[in-house]
Amino acid sequence: MIISLVRMPPDGLIFKHHYKAGELDTRECDFELKEPPLVEGRAMCVGMDVRLRGDVKATISAPCDRCLNEVTIPVEIPFDLFYAPADPGAGYTGEHELRKRDLDFAVFENDLIDLDEMVLEQLELELPSRVLCREECRGLCPQCGADLNLEQCDCRTQIDPRWQVLSDLKAGMEENDK
Ligand SMILES: [Zn+2]
Ligand SMILES: [Zn+2]
Repeated sequence: MIISLVRMPPDGLIFKHHYKAGELDTRECDFELKEPPLVEGRAMCVGMDVRLRGDVKATISAPCDRCLNEVTIPVEIPFDLFYAPADPGAGYTGEHELRKRDLDFAVFENDLIDLDEMVLEQLELELPSRVLCREECRGLCPQCGADLNLEQCDCRTQIDPRWQVLSDLKAGMEENDK
């Protein structure tokens, strides 16, 4: 969804959009959409910039880092973003403009702001750096790929002798810690 800033009312432009399944292209994202996002908020002019405030609600999913099972993550993300015009024209002096560029300003062109891009970016940022189905997830066996949450495979009993040295060492260190 693209919002047009032409004829913006003085108290801002209210927007609300409930995405349909498949409306957003998430092929480049590290998550999938379980529930398409609902985005709502208000766009306001601040000088020549535009301030976008509101929130995005959605349910996303991503594979667990350890066991690869799908993890469902409901999110509600408040945003407060500034957009600067791509070509500010005569309105800005150089120095002022440079200082603004240092800040995290997005850019808009032709009085249009692409909400799709913004929504996907917000969701991407919200995705935890480590996705776990649960804190104590035991993951997959590195040797046979069995889901260790569901079954105990036999690999542990046939541990590679080279690793056995390491694990004895580790056990010894843990002993010493006590
Ligand atoms: Zn897991
Ligand atoms: Zn195994």
